[in-house]
Amino acid sequence: MTDIKSLTLPELEAFAAERGMPKYRAKQIAEWLKKGVQDFDEMSNLPANVREQLKTSCYISVANIEKKLVSRYDKTVKYLFSFADGECVESVVMSYRHGLSICISTQVGCKMGCTFCATGKSGFSRNLTASEILAQIEAAQRDLNERISNVVLMGMGEPLDNFDNVMRFISLVTDENGLNIGARHITLSTCGIVPKINELAERRLQINLAVSLHATNDEIRSKTMPIAKAYPMDTLLAACKNYFDKTGRRVTFEYAMISGVNDSDENARELGQRLRRLNCHVNLIPVNTVEGTGYKKSNLERQQSFINILAGCGITATVRRTLGSDINASCGQLRRNHQYQGG
Ligand code: SAH
Ligand code: SF4
Repeated sequence: MTDIKSLTLPELEAFAAERGMPKYRAKQIAEWLKKGVQDFDEMSNLPANVREQLKTSCYISVANIEKKLVSRYDKTVKYLFSFADGECVESVVMSYRHGLSICISTQVGCKMGCTFCATGKSGFSRNLTASEILAQIEAAQRDLNERISNVVLMGMGEPLDNFDNVMRFISLVTDENGLNIGARHITLSTCGIVPKINELAERRLQINLAVSLHATNDEIRSKTMPIAKAYPMDTLLAACKNYFDKTGRRVTFEYAMISGVNDSDENARELGQRLRRLNCHVNLIPVNTVEGTGYKKSNLERQQSFINILAGCGITATVRRTLGSDINASCGQLRRNHQYQGG
């Protein structure tokens, strides 16, 4: 069975041609898919025999809303979506002045095992297909009845560990026949799989790259992020420079501040030195509590001190606003085994 929603328009045209359909059928089908139809029978301008033909050869991938939680503090909405095989992921919609932004998942679970992350703790089940990544946006948009204008690949999973499907997703979501979200409105966050960052740079997409750094040297980094053992920070920073050189897009470094682990003035100075020559921005995230980690957030004094020291090195740093904290919708709090309370 063909996963029809994962096909690009040229592929859909080829698919239609192979089945003896006129070329315009592909566009008609694409129009319906974009509207989020879940059944071929809803494609009312297609002849019955074409719908039958489609039903026997393909399926429409959907994300079903299993649970929906709305934050009492802000308008953040967290969804638990299920797919055809029963696997579940979480997605979070945040409301900003410039519109709605969605944080979507790329894998069920994650193999990377970062010690501060709830997703990392829950293990890995499988990659999401391009259509399953896309379906999260369509389902949220349909439910909220409002256009989503920004996409961040920062939910569950490591996007560069599911490279081909994520690249296919990006080409589908940016297509003007699809959701038509501009590449500059898409941010991909990675824990730092160096060869894949370089491969991404070669594609010369205009997407934003965010790199989860969370440390100032390999010794500290390898305590919380196993990936640091495979790719030392020097090679990671070189890949980030390469990304900027190839795409002209400024890289963002994410830095979860953990009290007593990576938040001293000395840490800030070392970070400032290492990032000094890169065209970058630092996003400080007071680490979110995840059961069983024992990590604590850095206090406001530490956060301000970091900002000042980095500013002294010519690096802009901001503290990320926490949204949806009452519904466990913040960074690193998404997991696949769900104990939803209230709502
Ligand atoms: N796998 C990718 C994207 C998903 S994680 C990555 O690691 O970048 C999204 C972001 O949340 C990453 O920056 C990650 O490091 C961060 N994160 C994970 N756990 C966190 C926690 N407990 N507190 C704050 N940020 C966390
Ligand atoms: Fe995976 Fe990112 Fe969590 Fe690390 S922080 S375990 S890479 S989802």
